[in-house]
This record gives sequence, C-alpha cells and structure tokens, in this order.
Amino acid sequence: MSATNFIRQIVESELADKRHPGGVVTRFPPEPNGYLHIGHAKSMCLNFGIAQDFKGKCYLRFDDTNPDRESPEYVAAIKHDVRWLGFEWENRLTHASDYFDQLYQAAVELVRNGKAFVCSLSAADIRSSRGTLTQPGHDSPFRDRSVAENLDLFERMRCGEFADGTHVLRARIDMASPNINLRDPTLYRIRHLPHQNTGERWCIYPMYGFTHPLSDALESVTHSLCTLEFEDQRAFYDWVLDNVTVPSRPRQIEFSRLALDYTIMSKRLLTALVEEKRVAGWDDPRMPTLSGLRRRGYTPASIRDFCARIGVTRNEQQIEMSVLENCIREDLDRTAPRAFAVLRPVRVVIDNYPNNQVEEFEAANHPNDPGMGVRTVPFCRELFIEQQDFMEDAPRKFFRLAPGREVRLRYAYLIKCTEVIKDHSGNVIEIHCDYDPASAGGKAPDGRKVKGTLHWVSAEHSVNAEIRLYDQLFVEPNPRADSDTDFMDLINPESQVILTGAKVEPSLARAQCGDTFQFERTGYFCADPDSAPGSPVFNRTVPLRDSWGRKNPA
Ligand code: ATP
Ligand code: MG
Repeated sequence: MSATNFIRQIVESELADKRHPGGVVTRFPPEPNGYLHIGHAKSMCLNFGIAQDFKGKCYLRFDDTNPDRESPEYVAAIKHDVRWLGFEWENRLTHASDYFDQLYQAAVELVRNGKAFVCSLSAADIRSSRGTLTQPGHDSPFRDRSVAENLDLFERMRCGEFADGTHVLRARIDMASPNINLRDPTLYRIRHLPHQNTGERWCIYPMYGFTHPLSDALESVTHSLCTLEFEDQRAFYDWVLDNVTVPSRPRQIEFSRLALDYTIMSKRLLTALVEEKRVAGWDDPRMPTLSGLRRRGYTPASIRDFCARIGVTRNEQQIEMSVLENCIREDLDRTAPRAFAVLRPVRVVIDNYPNNQVEEFEAANHPNDPGMGVRTVPFCRELFIEQQDFMEDAPRKFFRLAPGREVRLRYAYLIKCTEVIKDHSGNVIEIHCDYDPASAGGKAPDGRKVKGTLHWVSAEHSVNAEIRLYDQLFVEPNPRADSDTDFMDLINPESQVILTGAKVEPSLARAQCGDTFQFERTGYFCADPDSAPGSPVFNRTVPLRDSWGRKNPA
C-alpha cells in the first residue's frame, strides 16, 4: 500500500461507507498528442495505484478529441510507457472516440430538452461575447432557435454539409454565470479531418469538457482525478452529468500538477523542442519524458518511488531535481554493478613492470552485495587513468597522483610517479611510474599510508567508448517564468557533453542497451541504444554525490 494522501482518504472513507458496491474505478486519460512525461507518472501512480491498493479498476483511456494533434505513434508510445512504469490496464484500454456515438446521442438529448443549440457565430464573436471575469457575457442571437431547427442543423453538421467554423453546438446554460465555463460552452465543433481512431467517420468532434464527464460515466468511473487547472471546469462537469441520462455518477477531484526545476512539462513546449530539433527526439536523455528518463538510465522503480515521495496535495508543487536524482541514486546504488571507465584518459607507463606481462585482478561487482559476484580486470605495463587524477604542481591535500607521490590503483598495486612527459604545448601525455611488486591487491606491505585510490583500465585491453554526460536542460529553474524570454534561449549549452575518447574495462564491450553500471568514482551510466558490439555508448544517468576515492580508500 502506498503512502496515503487526501484523495486516498476520500476513497477509503467512501468505501467504508459502502458508497461504491462495484469497487473503486479510476482512469488515466492521456491525450495522444505527445509522449508521457514524469508529471503523467504522478497521475498514473495515483490512478493505477488507488485501483491496485483498493482492489478496484483503472482504465487507460486515450482522450482523443482533437484529430489534428493526435497520432498512432503517440498512442503506441504511451502504451509502452504505461507498461514500462509497471501498470497494466488488462481489458480496460479505451478511447474517448469509442464513445462518439453515445456522445452524439447525449448532445441530441440536450438539444431535445432545450439545453443545447446550434450557434452560427464565428469563433471570434463567440469569444468576444463571452464576457470577462468581472463582466457577464451576451446571449448568442441563435440561442432561441427552436428544438426542431437545432436538431436539423446538428444532424446536417454531422452529415458534413457545413464547412469548418460555420456552426458549433453550444450548451444553453447561463451567459451571466460568474463561472465563465458555464457561459454556454461549446459542445461540438466541425472539423473535416480524419481521426487516428475513427478515420473518416466523423466530421464533428466533441469538446474535451463535454466528452470527459460522459466517458467517465460510461466507464462507471467513481473518482475522476485531474489536475487543478480543471477546478473551474468542475461545475460544467457536474452540469453535464446532471442534464444527460448517464449510467453512473463520477466525482471529479483535483490535485496539483508536478513541476520540476530546470525542465518543462508542457506537451506543447516539449513538442516544440522535438520539432525544432533542439533535442534528439522525445527520448533524448535530457527530456523529462518517460522515454527520455528510460534512455537516461532511470528505472521504473525509481520513478514510482519519486512519485510516492512527492505525494499528492492541492498545493503548488515545484520539486527540486535533486529529489528525483536521489531516487535513482538510491535504486542504482543497490542494483548497479560496478565497473571501471576512464572518461578523459591519460597514459600511465609502469617502467618496472615486465613488458608483455598481464595479470588478472579480481574486482567485486558490488561492494556490499557479494551475491553480485566478481569479475577480473586485466593489468599490464601501460594503463589509463583520468587526466584529473594527476596534477604536476599538486597542493598538499591532493590525494591523487603527482610527481614523487604514491597512490593505489584499486584492486591492483601501489604506484609512484617518477616522470612526466609533455607535448610541445605543455600538455601531459604520459606519466611514468614505478609499482611496488609487494603491494598486489592494493595493500601496502609495510602498512604505510597511501591515501589516494584511483580507478584505471589497461591500455591494451580496454575498449573505446563514447560517453554522453547530461546535465539539466535549462539554465533557469523555471524557464517559463519570464514571458519576455523565449524558453528556447534558456537551453543549457552544456546539457549534453559528448566524450568520444573514453576507455572502459573489457567487460563493458558488449553492454546491452539499458544495462546500468556505476562507473567507480564517476557516476551511474546506462548503455545507450546507439551502442554496437565492441563500441559501447554510455549515458550518464547521474553523477555520484561522493566518491569513494576520498571517502573510503580501497
Ligand atoms: P498538456 O496540457 O501539456 O498537453 P495535459 O495535462 O493536457 O498536458 P494529458 O495527456 O491530458 O496532458 O494528461 C493526462 C493526465 O495526466 C491528465 O489527467 C493530467 O491531469 C495528468 N497530468 C498531466 N500533466 C501532469 C503533471 N505535470 N502533474 C500531474 N499530472 C499531470
Ligand atoms: Mg489534457
């Protein structure tokens, strides 16, 4: 059972009062006009989670009432992501468009009862007659058309007699209502466009606000959970259910949307990033989409854990990225095997190590989980270490390699730097060392103190890898805060840094897409689909908070 929240408490108390003999029914209703993002994960964890925990049912319903923005690509991606996150709809996959016949009948019922009319104002005139928050709207001149005329016009709208925008069907409620959503809202509009599910069958499409309550009622949804921007729509949601014959009476409850620092969650803006090629696609590892997070190396468990930690309330929810990062760190710390990768290599030559000799050292795949086993790493005369693990003029507290200083190569030997070779512009290209043959395994034979411990790979046996370092997508925590600045101009130019010269231990040569590792001292990494046998590509999921190199030597 997940952590409780105000919605779960409502469900619990209603179930205790036996208000829902058929059990609790929820739905997750994405519009297939983009890929799912982590905000949707919050909604899924809530809707599917309540159904799971209270032995109810949850529908996956495609809310497909806008044929011009929706596509089968999005439908397929959404299904994949819902399953990936760990949720199952069984036989409850539906579309709002499955109900187009019933919705049409509901609209006819409203017309018959004088509660809906065909309005022939232009969209602009409808908008300007709607009034404002402080001023009432004006009645449409078409508001008092007879039932017979409305039925005839609506039927002819359906048959395709009229062009887009010439007529709409509107509810007949109250143009003076303090709630603008009740000022004769549009129920149907004409769109001569094929639909991703119903093809050419319809040229009129119901509006979201009309479709949603009826779809909920037709599925016997008990709790229709949506984000707070729909709060003002609740009156119309209830009006529809009060004025159309429906088989059940769902209740809408709102909660706040998830927002995450340094990213955006609007599908419109995410679509713009993709279409303008500012990112590599919906699954670019910098995107807050589930497909992006997956490619970045996030696990379903870490995302569900995140959703549990942030909770569900009605308060504004702007979460720091570190909360999400801590969830994946905690998960991967437990589950990711350790490996050696040198991101920016510099060559080390061990002058007193026999040429042509190779030793295999045993390395634990996990420091605290012996069950994850061991692997061997080959050691020979020439190695690579990180450039940043060497400093020519090192301060006293630099516990890595420097001329005359000794460090431990993890699992292997102690080495001491004897000479530095530079190119003509002064860059270090080779570090010469001597090793202590009595220090196999990295232990000082005489117990002398060697503070620094470095990761390394064999120059001869290591494999070339491409490593993609990711950082926050935007330079501002809220890229939409300032309306004068185009959010595209706030993209972090360092959000993707590609290192093509990395060297990784041989066991990583055949890493499969999705395999995740902790590269010791560097971070958590995940093999990218661009990997090929022998030339792996790794995405950095998150850096390590602390490196064991300083915290616990050896
Ligand atoms: P957009 O307006 O950017 O297109 P949306 O909310 O309309 O996003 P939908 O596909 O309609 O996207 O969302 C499906 C469900 O997920 C809805 O119930 C919606 O309330 C919920 N949802 C969407 N974004 C968030 C978010 N950031 N936090 C929590 N729930 C969300
Ligand atoms: Mg929506």
